[in-house]
Amino acid sequence: MPPCIFCKIIKGDIPCTKVYEDKEVFAFLDIKPVNPGHTLVIPKKHYVNIHDTPDELIGKVAIVAKKIADAILKLGAKGVNIAMNNGVVAGQSVFHAHMHVMPRYGKDSFSLWVGKEYDGNEREKVAEKIRTSL
Ligand code: 5GP
Ligand code: ZN
Repeated sequence: MPPCIFCKIIKGDIPCTKVYEDKEVFAFLDIKPVNPGHTLVIPKKHYVNIHDTPDELIGKVAIVAKKIADAILKLGAKGVNIAMNNGVVAGQSVFHAHMHVMPRYGKDSFSLWVGKEYDGNEREKVAEKIRTSL
């Protein structure tokens, strides 16, 4: 396995700008922020993404993401995006599970997805497949 950048950050082998730490969760500023304050919240233990992270732990990561989002809002952001990229095609580039907390001010280059239309009864078919796969 190639060395994991975020594991190195937690160990202190690579410097970071820390904003939060507890027994299981760590948060630090993204090196290339969408806006200043863009924070990455990660489990201290290495997991690849949401799929292999235990439910209880991903819950703790999400709670910390919410705390940081609340703090960012208090500091003057107009909104906050919280996102997690899982898998290469979803845009994941660092394979240590992480949630992005991104302050928004209304004028930046960050844009969200553009929705498509469903064909015929595709929507109901897809929903049924998801329900049976749960
Ligand atoms: P992903 O594309 O996997 O969802 O997000 C990975 C994020 O990690 C990117 O936004 C990228 O800027 C950030 N990142 C990559 N390497 C480092 C690093 O060494 N330090 C910090 N602070 N952030 C990093
Ligand atoms: Zn790691």
